[in-house]
Amino acid sequence: MKYFTVAENKRETHNVNTLVFHDDISIVPGQFIMAWAPRINDIPLSFSSVSDPKAITIKVYGDASAYLAGLGPGDRLFYEGPYGNGYDIVPGKKLLIGAGSGIASLMPLIDGNTTGLISGKTAEDILFSDRFTEGKLHIVTDDGTAGKKGFVTTAMDELDIEDFDMIYVCGPEIMMKSVVDYLKDKNVNCQFSLERSMKCGVGLCDSCSINGYQVCSDGPVFSIAELKSMDEFGRTRLTYSGKRVFF
Ligand SMILES: Cc1cc2nc3c(=O)[nH]c(=O)nc-3n(C[C@H](O)[C@H](O)[C@H](O)COP(=O)(O)OP(=O)(O)OC[C@H]3O[C@@H](n4cnc5c(N)ncnc54)[C@H](O)[C@@H]3O)c2cc1C
Repeated sequence: MKYFTVAENKRETHNVNTLVFHDDISIVPGQFIMAWAPRINDIPLSFSSVSDPKAITIKVYGDASAYLAGLGPGDRLFYEGPYGNGYDIVPGKKLLIGAGSGIASLMPLIDGNTTGLISGKTAEDILFSDRFTEGKLHIVTDDGTAGKKGFVTTAMDELDIEDFDMIYVCGPEIMMKSVVDYLKDKNVNCQFSLERSMKCGVGLCDSCSINGYQVCSDGPVFSIAELKSMDEFGRTRLTYSGKRVFF
């Protein structure tokens, strides 16, 4: 198993930490690792920076993410990967739409021509707002404590959506489904990174499958055309034990 050595643990919010490291790994934006939390689980995590210093950003949900988010300088994080296809890098005007920890995998795509649309439940859940050029960031929160009150589609109404050369989206599947529905009749290039329950990361266990695709090995990044063809997208998912449930 490979490892990197944590150089710094930065606290981003009350439940999100970024682990910074300098190890030499070749990664493209949107790829992920299966990170090992000993005696707990292996969990998928994307890179929030792919150039030196590299970084992963972890939101604490359960035991594995809590363990990994607590690693400190000098600790080793053991992993398999990097896995997955990554985002297509397209020159021109980009729009990044991220909700919750989903914004982490979009961070390596930022350049001077990027607009951000970040959403969270409340002000304290908004991540990486300082990374965007002034005037090119839109924030929405469920409770209105930061930015506009509403969902990402509320803020999309105020943007000239078809003016972007590429739109990249990552966050909870329900939010991404609302974006696919919003964009369905528009002339846009759009890519989405899916976060489904994942065990092996290499296409063996099928726990992340959706309409015959495996998110780990066929994705995690899919085009809007691919998602439109998946009737399970935003509707049903497999639990960790393999049971199919509705969102
Ligand atoms: C390709 C890919 C890339 C990912 N990249 C990142 C990343 O860069 N940063 C990051 O913080 N997370 C990322 N995730 C999500 C991360 O893998 C999960 O949060 C993690 O597996 C949780 O493990 P746990 O053992 O800590 O919690 P668990 O014990 O598995 O979960 C605890 C509780 O939280 C819920 N839960 C777990 N994960 C999520 C979630 N993502 N959204 C909402 N509720 C959840 C569970 O249903 C459960 O009720 C990614 C997932 C995928 C598939």
